[in-house]
Amino acid sequence: MTALDLITGVTQAIFVLIFLLVTVRTISHPTPAHIDMSVFFGILAFLVVETRVATYLGVKQPDWYNDTVIVLVIALPYILLRLVDDFARVPTLVKRAAEVGLVAFAVALYATPGSQLQPEMTLAIVAYFVLLSFYSGAGFIDASRRTQGVTQRRMQAISIGTIFFGVEILMSGIGGLLQEPDRTLLTASGQVLGLLAAVAFYLGFAPPAFLRQAWQAPELRAFLARAADLPRLPATFDIVRELEKGAAASTGSSARIAVWDEDIAKLRAWRDPDNETIHFDSGSFVSGRAFELQRLIFTTDPIRDDPANADSYRRAGTGAMIATPISAGGRRLGVLTLYAQRSPIFAASDMELARLLADQAAVILESRALIDHAARVRAQEEANRLKEDFVSAAAHDLKTPLTTVVAQAEFLERKALRDPSSPADLQGLQRIVREGKRLAALVTDLLDAARLEQGRLVSEREPVDLGTLVSELCGRQQTDVHSCAVDVRGAVVGVYDRRRIEQLVENLVENARKYSPDATPVDVTVWQQDGEARIAVRDHGIGIPPTDLPTIFERFSRGSNVDDRRFHGMGLGLYICRGIVEEHGGRIWAESEVGKGSTFHVALPLQEGRRLN
Ligand code: ADP
Repeated sequence: MTALDLITGVTQAIFVLIFLLVTVRTISHPTPAHIDMSVFFGILAFLVVETRVATYLGVKQPDWYNDTVIVLVIALPYILLRLVDDFARVPTLVKRAAEVGLVAFAVALYATPGSQLQPEMTLAIVAYFVLLSFYSGAGFIDASRRTQGVTQRRMQAISIGTIFFGVEILMSGIGGLLQEPDRTLLTASGQVLGLLAAVAFYLGFAPPAFLRQAWQAPELRAFLARAADLPRLPATFDIVRELEKGAAASTGSSARIAVWDEDIAKLRAWRDPDNETIHFDSGSFVSGRAFELQRLIFTTDPIRDDPANADSYRRAGTGAMIATPISAGGRRLGVLTLYAQRSPIFAASDMELARLLADQAAVILESRALIDHAARVRAQEEANRLKEDFVSAAAHDLKTPLTTVVAQAEFLERKALRDPSSPADLQGLQRIVREGKRLAALVTDLLDAARLEQGRLVSEREPVDLGTLVSELCGRQQTDVHSCAVDVRGAVVGVYDRRRIEQLVENLVENARKYSPDATPVDVTVWQQDGEARIAVRDHGIGIPPTDLPTIFERFSRGSNVDDRRFHGMGLGLYICRGIVEEHGGRIWAESEVGKGSTFHVALPLQEGRRLN
């Protein structure tokens, strides 16, 4: 046996092996691509076996039989073209031209008597063969550029195989027309290329598991390396997009993930290009069905398999889908869907990979759920702590006046029991009234704070003349200790909740008095500016430290320069003021200098048509 015999033997053995492997796959998944592969390698395997048997038996085949064998050989590049079409898209014109060529050759062959091919015929066949093989090779290269990962590598192997196959036929075709020794040289080179083509086809069409895994490894490794950080991304959406990117890179197809939303019992996905959220039921669409049944679904024709949603698949140009449920320890988390415009050639390996990626996605989404849960627990604890703070602050502030009221009342009671005819203790009674009022004010503040939480502070609105309102209030608040001077610059009328605006100004004026030394004036100005009603309350008091300024409008917030012994307070007044202003659509802010005084500014919207100059 010569070296060339050995090469031919090995090449033929590889073709038969590929035929057996792809046929097994076609039986389990009879997709158009698998069928075309089986036909292609079936013809090659038949030619190998047929030649061997004929040579061994020394039989001479009839002409029609030999013609059929040649037609089968000519059909090979046409089937390659169909394979390109299974994965990418071949223009209809090219397909029809290839079919016409094939039929024309068959007719010419059967019509010509004798088994010897005319040189022109041989040349024409070789040209047809080479043209189609190169076209298919280019088609596979183009398709491989548009995919990634393992699919891309397999497509590259197939394109190399296709081109070698074409060159081999070209060489043996030309070799047939030459004289010795060129003829042997060219045919031998062709046989070596044939072997290379066989190996490339084997790697592309039926790669062994270890090679497939090695090809998947780089993308998968990159994806897994990134996976550890994914659960910490800011939003579930970011995680899903990263998972989709990883799945697409590893499989060479497009990938979509829908996550199960427990609260509304629907699957949630994000649509391209604007990331709009869409919801769909478990059981609807191929992905919903995979989720409902909790098993992988592979379809090469979603329009046929899910006619109810045919329009969506048609619009998206979806030709094949693999939908895999994402679940962890019995918890159903979502579904991973890989889809391609054309039925993917590599369905079997993609399914294994889809399962692996879905498992990985499950781990990531599960960790994310745990992180979210921990955050919810922390938020709950924080809310509880706030509630406790609130209760203890309120209890503390209510207790002081209450103790005074009870002690004073008990004292008066004892006095009355001892000497019923003694005159009323006016001072004691006034203290009870004063502390009682403080208590009532505190309770009102607490109730207002609670209303504010629900956004229900402001109710009935009516036209309010702010100048008049502020002047009346100031008049009432005039005391011996503090004067309240009002400067109203023109009529300022807006539509407000009168009671709440009164409360707002009262609070600000009371604070101005509370936090100022005796005999210092409080000035209130009312004016209009840039289409807004403006109120400013200015004092010459203790001021607010700059570090406290940003927080004084927060609930329970008090300046670091005030203490309970000198200044009673719960830190709710300004919080309620801000609530009143904001519910009216306005703004409130403060300017202050420690030791010099503070000015509180309020800006409220003026109703259109009520703007007066
Ligand atoms: P309270 O007066 O009950 O403490 P507020 O919410 O009305 O609660 O005020 C919050 C804090 O803002 C006060 O504790 C005080 O430190 C500061 N503050 C408010 N008004 C003035 C003011 N006119 N001058 C100085 N500090 C003020």
